[in-house]
Amino acid sequence: MNKAKAYSAVSAISPLASTTIPRRDATENDVQIEILFCGICHSDLHSVCNEWSEFMPTVFPIVPGHEIVGRVTKVGPAVTKFKPGDLAVVGCMVDSDGTCPECRAGFENFCPNMTLTFNSPDKHLGGVTYGGYSESIVVDQRFVLRVPSNLKLAGAAPLLCAGITTYSPMRRWGVTKGKKAGVVGLGGLGHMAVKLAHAFGAHVVVFTTSPNKKEDALRLGADEVVISRNADEMQKHAESFDFILDAVSADHDINAYINLLRRDGNLTIVGAPPEPLGVSAFGLIMRRRSFSGSNIGGIAETQEMLDFCGKHNITADVEVIPIQKVNEAYERLLKSDVKYRFSIDMASLKSE
Ligand code: NAP
Ligand code: ZN
Repeated sequence: MNKAKAYSAVSAISPLASTTIPRRDATENDVQIEILFCGICHSDLHSVCNEWSEFMPTVFPIVPGHEIVGRVTKVGPAVTKFKPGDLAVVGCMVDSDGTCPECRAGFENFCPNMTLTFNSPDKHLGGVTYGGYSESIVVDQRFVLRVPSNLKLAGAAPLLCAGITTYSPMRRWGVTKGKKAGVVGLGGLGHMAVKLAHAFGAHVVVFTTSPNKKEDALRLGADEVVISRNADEMQKHAESFDFILDAVSADHDINAYINLLRRDGNLTIVGAPPEPLGVSAFGLIMRRRSFSGSNIGGIAETQEMLDFCGKHNITADVEVIPIQKVNEAYERLLKSDVKYRFSIDMASLKSE
């Protein structure tokens, strides 16, 4: 067993602080990775604050982080995909049973025995898994992916969650040229959705509560921007969307968006506010609209997304921060003040 520097929270009301955690020695199929960058996802914040206690209660101490870019330092004897010195990336999952129908269909993200990168039972060491706010991690090679060499690493890290979580449902619901696609909430996920939908060729409309993000939305690839608190602006788009992706982290009026869908349009929610949303039956039945959810993406699809981003030169717009600024970054996330993903430069952990 190895010790690794990390940042953890010891309770739902504690700030993240420096600590050391155990990491297993690389076994047969393991890849040991020195972490270079880790993105900050709003899910990290929900988990640290134990806001999802009803669905996935947080076990403290928690080490969050599931947007990991690093360099391989060691591999187990059965590892064929990687060698020391290679760049390697890890997302929201580090294991699954590999045998269930979901895994066999490439949906490890829906495997009932999937192990999340943090706050999941750790099969190797007991306790729970610890995520990417750390100097290193050890992961089964099946869950370690390759990042295209043209992508800047700090901005590539968020592809591992924000990228795949928006890529997967947009592929699933056919966001392509000729389609009108909406993106609700211009945060980490939302800004990736805009870049990807634009690359897919769709007509992209951003819905934001932050008027000061308008210029950025257009620069990121939006064709139109709607300030969602303005009812007149919303009304102009009534019954016109083929697809809307909702990436909002807090309670909001979902019916306002369902009503913007055309017949047979779909609204997919990826944002995960802890409280239930009130969906009007009439909004759905009158136009045969559908409302669905989506959870990250499978491993093969995540590699597909990375390769797509390589080809189109897509990365997140990141504010690179030292780990010592992580609590400040969380406060800013709560105020929707992020442009548009924080990426932690893990070299900053060396001074702890
Ligand atoms: P984020 O960067 O904090 O962005 C969230 C955005 O939502 C904000 O920037 C803001 O956009 C909007 N927003 C926030 N509060 C709002 C409110 N009260 N009313 C209306 N809009 C509001 O968060 P993120 O990292 O992108 O994550 C978004 C959500 O997705 C989180 O709940 C996260 O846990 C979830 N998530 C789900 C999956 C999955 O697999 N399904 C994966 C990753 C994350 P504007 O300023 O533009 O309004
Ligand atoms: Zn995430």
